[in-house]
Amino acid sequence: MRPSDLLCSRPQGLYCPPGDFFIDPVSPVDRALITHGHSDHARSGHRSVLATRETLDIMALRYGADFAGSTQAAALGETISLNGVAVSFHPAGHVLGSAQIAVKHNGLTIVASGDYKRQPDPTCAAFEVVPCDVFITEATFALPVFRHPPAQDEIGKLLRSVEQFPERSHLVGAYALGKAQRVMRLLRDAGYDKPIYIHGAMARISDYYQGQGIDLGQLEPATVEAGGKADFAGAIVIGPPSTFADRWARRFPDPVSSFASGWMRIRQRAKQGGVELPLIISDHGDWDELAATIKETGASEVWVTHGREEALVRWCELEGLAAKPLHLIGYEDEGQ
Ligand SMILES: [Zn+2]
Repeated sequence: MRPSDLLCSRPQGLYCPPGDFFIDPVSPVDRALITHGHSDHARSGHRSVLATRETLDIMALRYGADFAGSTQAAALGETISLNGVAVSFHPAGHVLGSAQIAVKHNGLTIVASGDYKRQPDPTCAAFEVVPCDVFITEATFALPVFRHPPAQDEIGKLLRSVEQFPERSHLVGAYALGKAQRVMRLLRDAGYDKPIYIHGAMARISDYYQGQGIDLGQLEPATVEAGGKADFAGAIVIGPPSTFADRWARRFPDPVSSFASGWMRIRQRAKQGGVELPLIISDHGDWDELAATIKETGASEVWVTHGREEALVRWCELEGLAAKPLHLIGYEDEGQ
């Protein structure tokens, strides 16, 4: 069996002909296996969805309980047979519930890793290396310029700024699923025990994390209805980056604009976005993590998707690995 007989690109996404299922399809299909809850991977309207319990819960929170015709929860490491094809889910270290999906058939193993990172993250299970013949990797930050510093060092920058400017509020942009909760947890781990103020768009998902045993400390709504601007002096406020241009952001006193993203490595990007305090915190592997992970899987063939495909394909070829870009469309990660 050739790898492309087991998984191939279709307009809807990655498809398994013998198993008759899709992985992270971008449009509605009969059977979808979903790696994680970010909106470009987890879409509503499939007839049946197989995913981890957390990913199913997150999809229900975002799309409503009827987001799919039927759902099945996959326990990590459990093998499930779909038309004779064995599939299993393994932690990806990206966000809560995120999983790589291993597909095995006739002695061939392909791992579709979805989005992943190797840096420690106290809000989700750590990435597990799954030996395979073909490894499908993301390439969001697949250029040598992307090297993510330890996330706790970046949080240290934020806390020093809060200390230095006690009269100003600190407005931290972070994606609502995963990044925001990671920033909250990192602040707690660094000893920050004051309330953290959050935008309404991240309240339910943060509550869900807390309910899953991830202690984010005291979270308060970032609203001024009951008080005044001065209430937020010295406060840390976390909101989705898209809200920073809104009226919402103007209620805070002389805010220090901050943004937690792997893209903050690019100074120009931070400047253009008006980001005063860039924090290089990413939920995707950097160049070194991607390269190390590919080697650790022992795969002899690598398929590269969503991001800087060409650079990583070239690196694989120099390492003597067969590699190709998958050219899947529709993945523009919300959680970078
Ligand atoms: Zn993602």
